[in-house]
Amino acid sequence: MLPQLLPARRDFPGDDPIFALNAEANARKAAGEDVINATVGALLDDHGQLVVLDTVMALYRELSPLEIAPYAPIAGDRAYLTALVQRYWPDLASFGVGCATPGGTGALALSIRNFLEPGEAVMTLAPYWGPYATICAEQGARLDTFPQPEAGHTFDPEQLRAIFEGQMHRQGRMLVWFNDPCHNPTGRSASPKGRALLMQALREAARHGPVTLLLDLAYLEYSADPAEVDHALRDYADFAREGEVLVGASLSTSKALTLYGARAGALVFPWSTDSSLQSALTMSCRGAFSNAPKAPQALVARLARDGKAQARLNDEHRHWSQILESRAKALSDALRGHKLRGLAWQGGFFVTLPAQDPTATAEALKAQGVFVVPLPEGLRVGLCGLRATDAARFAEAYARALPPAALS
Ligand code: PLP
Repeated sequence: MLPQLLPARRDFPGDDPIFALNAEANARKAAGEDVINATVGALLDDHGQLVVLDTVMALYRELSPLEIAPYAPIAGDRAYLTALVQRYWPDLASFGVGCATPGGTGALALSIRNFLEPGEAVMTLAPYWGPYATICAEQGARLDTFPQPEAGHTFDPEQLRAIFEGQMHRQGRMLVWFNDPCHNPTGRSASPKGRALLMQALREAARHGPVTLLLDLAYLEYSADPAEVDHALRDYADFAREGEVLVGASLSTSKALTLYGARAGALVFPWSTDSSLQSALTMSCRGAFSNAPKAPQALVARLARDGKAQARLNDEHRHWSQILESRAKALSDALRGHKLRGLAWQGGFFVTLPAQDPTATAEALKAQGVFVVPLPEGLRVGLCGLRATDAARFAEAYARALPPAALS
């Protein structure tokens, strides 16, 4: 053991658990086994190839040396930030206050640095994207949760109030990460009523101290019903304009533009004009990574000036959303064929299946050559990597992996 390495940094698992599962699935596949790998977190076509949006790649090829090589401004290119924000809120003239970050992950990390004291907790919906816990831990924060309602139900207002009030009592402030619409890992979105209940609980919490709602918008382009997504975004904008709760967004081009490796995201507060918040974010960028990559920022700015490219991109998003929808439907039908509950997928790359003992069920699936990610609340299934034609085999293996009492 290296004595130089701090004791608190010595006991991490060598591999990210999801990457380890993915590696095992790939190794068994390479050895000739017929494997279903639903652990993947990137969109694959039905041949297992990474989906790369053609419109985006065409724009990438057009970039000039001066759109690639120089440093971007420390807080990010203003045209980039405005274009990203206008993708979701086209009526806004500016990004308000914000900065470019390495992916949405960078935005989430910076939000902790600026809105929580060391040791305080971020509040988020459970289940959540696993790296939330790592991002918090690396920033010296903890993670508290409030439960996502069952499909077809809304939040319990009393429960929400109690959880939020408890945190306001402990910390005197609250930072909420809300990955909605198109939640990872459940594939569901809050209903209009659910959003209203959440907002009411946040307003009440804000009477006891500063509250920030950070919308983590990672999968919005991949939804069953884009009108529902627009509706949600309008509701959040109305809520932001009330001014009681600071509302911001963590934006990412990883899935939206299939620019996973370009590391381009943003932390924005489109309804704020606060200059001290802007200075704090700029300082965070300088101290954490200096500046985010230039090329994807130039690409997004180009996209914003090119109406035809936007229309082509929109068609590509609809195409892949429909593929995801057909995968969700195939899996849902196959589950129902085993007298199991169907899916309530509304968008994004994942769904979560129930399992009383997720680790044991995931192991039982693995023994049948089916790889999923066990979460405390169930099994994360990547529709992004699951062919519709694999649904029947998947459902059969899942039904076999469940204890008999689960099958009624
Ligand atoms: N938020 C959620 C819910 C995600 O699933 C991801 C990526 O998988 C991100 C944020 C951030 O992604 P990136 O850092 O690649 O932009």
